[in-house]
Amino acid sequence: MLSRTERAARARAAADRLGPGVDGVILGWVDNAGVHRVKAVPVEQLAHAAEWGVGAAPCFDAFLVDDSMAPTASPVGDLRLVPDLSVLTGLAAQPGWAWAPADRYGQDGEPHPGCQRLFAGRMAAEAARRGLEVRAGIEVEWVLVDGAGAGPAYGMRRLIGLSDYLRDLLRALREQGLTVLQIHPEYAVGQFEVSLAPAGPVAAADTALLVRHTVQAVSVRHGLDASFAPAVTVGGVGNGGHLHLSLWRGGRNLGAGGPGRYGLTAEGEAFLAGVLAELPALLALGAPSVASYLRLVPGRWSGPYRCWGRENREAALRLIPGSTPEQANAEVKCFDAAANPYLMIGGVLAAGFAGIDRGLRLPPEVCGDPADSGYAERLPAELAAAAAAFKASDLLREALGEQLHSAVLAVREAEVGRFAGREPEEVIAATRLRW
Ligand code: GLU
Ligand code: MG
Repeated sequence: MLSRTERAARARAAADRLGPGVDGVILGWVDNAGVHRVKAVPVEQLAHAAEWGVGAAPCFDAFLVDDSMAPTASPVGDLRLVPDLSVLTGLAAQPGWAWAPADRYGQDGEPHPGCQRLFAGRMAAEAARRGLEVRAGIEVEWVLVDGAGAGPAYGMRRLIGLSDYLRDLLRALREQGLTVLQIHPEYAVGQFEVSLAPAGPVAAADTALLVRHTVQAVSVRHGLDASFAPAVTVGGVGNGGHLHLSLWRGGRNLGAGGPGRYGLTAEGEAFLAGVLAELPALLALGAPSVASYLRLVPGRWSGPYRCWGRENREAALRLIPGSTPEQANAEVKCFDAAANPYLMIGGVLAAGFAGIDRGLRLPPEVCGDPADSGYAERLPAELAAAAAAFKASDLLREALGEQLHSAVLAVREAEVGRFAGREPEEVIAATRLRW
């Protein structure tokens, strides 16, 4: 970490780069329930904020999606939010505002063991230590609530109806320096998806957040409201937050040109096998809400089966060989946007590295619909089961560290209790506009 003086100097330079039109800087962090929480400072306070951090109560480690708290919450203590100035971005759809993700430190300047973004950073450093480059991207799906965006899935009618809105979104993302790969109307009524160019693990998580909040800011300017919740209607297709990953060594994609199935190298296969092995526990990070399990059911292409398959949209792990070796990647489809993206990516890397260390192999591929194969195992069908697998995972406890692991577990268990016995309609109503 940079010294306080260097951080202040960088903040002054970063504020200059933002130019005169910015009044406020938002410092954001994502809690264990996946909610992006923020504090903001006037731009003239940015250098001070970078130097000393901005105070934030540690109780947010225990916050649930509905702003109640797990019993582990303490009213005592303080943490410091330290903005990552390398990511400071002027917000195109919120004129006068800029945003930077924050890492959380103690008042003594030591990293907060419960900081999710620092955890992802540690896993990124572990990849680098192994000589691996990780390229990741999180797809962003959302549903416009209140009836906007009618028209068929992938339908031109839907795009025409919202063409100014979608154009403004493309513009805002471009102005913020993001590279959009695709945008389209998705399966559910009012649903859209945007995908972005891959980036390093922490940057991919930062980008997913920035994209989601840009979507929401553009929506608000158009009098619309966007839901990123896993489930928006009972029995309908939900919003995924699919994680795409490729692993590279020495400029070579480990998912292409190897001797394994579809060109997998042994190391690439072992990584994926490690992810597949840990998937029930990883669900507590990637599908973290009671609402996640209203989405994660067969027939909605949310990847509810613990298996892999080439281009298989019902498999949790979808292998995408691509048309060139650069494009080959794997998609973890069972995750959704309720996930804290730093926890999700960090957890997947930890599981993959363990797969490499243990030389794991993938089980046989599932080629058709896993529902017909007879042996494809369902992933946990409720949060309580995923939380139990997470509790039992020494691998994830070790990777996250005891404090972060137990904080996440406390939030999961508290949300299970909070929503126990509630009908799907009530769960959706309580969560649909929280992320
Ligand atoms: N919306 C689906 C989900 O919940 C994914 C549809 C797709 O893009 O394949 O994950
Ligand atoms: Mg999609």
